[in-house]
Amino acid sequence: MSESSPRPRRRPSQTKIVATVGPACDEPAKLVELIEAGVDVFRVNAAHGDRQEHQGSVDRIREAGQAAGRVVAILVDLAGPKIRLGELPGGEMECPTGDEVRFVRGDVAHEPGDLTTTYEPLLDELQLGDRIMLADGTVALAVERLDEGSATCRIVQGGLLRSRQGVNLPGVKLSVPTLGAKDRENARWAAGAGVDFIGLSFVRSADELRALQSLIESEGAEAQVIAKIEKPEALEDLDEIVQTTDGVMVARGDLGVEIDIARVPVVQKEIIDACHRHRKPVIIATQMLDSMQHARLPTRAEATDVANAILDGADACMLSGETAIGRYPREAVEMMHRIALATESVPRRARPVDAPDLAAEGVNQITEATTFAAGRLAEELGAETIVVASASGQTALSLSKNRHFVPTIGVSDSQATLRRMCLYWGVIPLPGAPTNNSAALLEHVVQRGRAAGYFAEGDRLVLVSGTGLRTTRHNMIVVHELD
Ligand code: PEP
Repeated sequence: MSESSPRPRRRPSQTKIVATVGPACDEPAKLVELIEAGVDVFRVNAAHGDRQEHQGSVDRIREAGQAAGRVVAILVDLAGPKIRLGELPGGEMECPTGDEVRFVRGDVAHEPGDLTTTYEPLLDELQLGDRIMLADGTVALAVERLDEGSATCRIVQGGLLRSRQGVNLPGVKLSVPTLGAKDRENARWAAGAGVDFIGLSFVRSADELRALQSLIESEGAEAQVIAKIEKPEALEDLDEIVQTTDGVMVARGDLGVEIDIARVPVVQKEIIDACHRHRKPVIIATQMLDSMQHARLPTRAEATDVANAILDGADACMLSGETAIGRYPREAVEMMHRIALATESVPRRARPVDAPDLAAEGVNQITEATTFAAGRLAEELGAETIVVASASGQTALSLSKNRHFVPTIGVSDSQATLRRMCLYWGVIPLPGAPTNNSAALLEHVVQRGRAAGYFAEGDRLVLVSGTGLRTTRHNMIVVHELD
């Protein structure tokens, strides 16, 4: 990653943008375009392609970050135990409501109306009455008969099925591990490749996150874990999951199949609230600007969805097919950026939290109270910027969570910490500087910040720092006026 001063970007949005890489953008020049348009984090979806392709994407993202002179982070998203249909004879099958279909063992269905899946123990784990959702929930089945070697299901909601489409079993307790052998291999590779975030799909418990965290640690890596919330079990254990993870993704694609789609908007708000309580960054994902896969403009509903996610308190919004396989990847990023700027320009509406909950578990009371006060001070003084020197990024995250509408510059001499800040709402990462000497830190920040075009003469800065008496505590606020 470049150590040089970042190229000034006109006005970054406070809300961070995550873009999924794919054939539509996976070459350095296009990735640079997306970075210039506002992308902070690129997602490499391990569910598609092989290791060599993923490594190629990681290399190209780094090359693009360097070319753009920006700090850009990488999220590798593990596929998790996604169950898929096997091959269908002829590639597709019409399923009329009221008809029957049968799940059989093996990879290939020989009889008309028979289905196979990639999940071998399915027939052993199904119970009478279980619901099976196929093809993103467009086709719904109910299990009516269990025989040796087959499960007969009634089609409750009909539709068209295609080979290898997704199979969801809401509420069915499956024995499949969340972090299976292939995901472990991919996680080891991602940790070794030095990526910043590893996403765990279909999380059901905090223990699964701990297992991934210790795998990453055993590789000597610093990658942070993102818990993808898409199972009803995760909602039952939400607080412990959020407390354990480093960040969260509201994976609305599978979530909207695993729970009633009508509940997704409210559940999204509950997850965001939990992330605010526990000071964890949260990404809202899937179909945010979906129609922009094929059109230059989103629907009004999509634009409103992005804005509402920000008003709910999302730290980042994610693009999937829009940038991976869509026709207009750059336009989609630009649009998300514009919606974010327009939404953030009404701070009073976009402030989902008033004061930190100092009683919340895992929260550092001194850091929280100091960052909250610093933000208020900056607002009162009309300061242009809050500056925080952060070794691990934790204090920068705390400032971010307070949603002061004063841009925050997060300074760190750790490249890994700077890249983590790519998910922190309102935090601009700035490399370098000693963190235990306020005067030297201020001088460094003023010099680098001026060169990068972040501030000018007469600006007021509020610096959040430590006395140095306790190295890990941020307990000091300094106000500085540039002359
Ligand atoms: C989702 O289900 O919304 C999601 C983000 O996961 P994936 O893209 O891996 O299906």
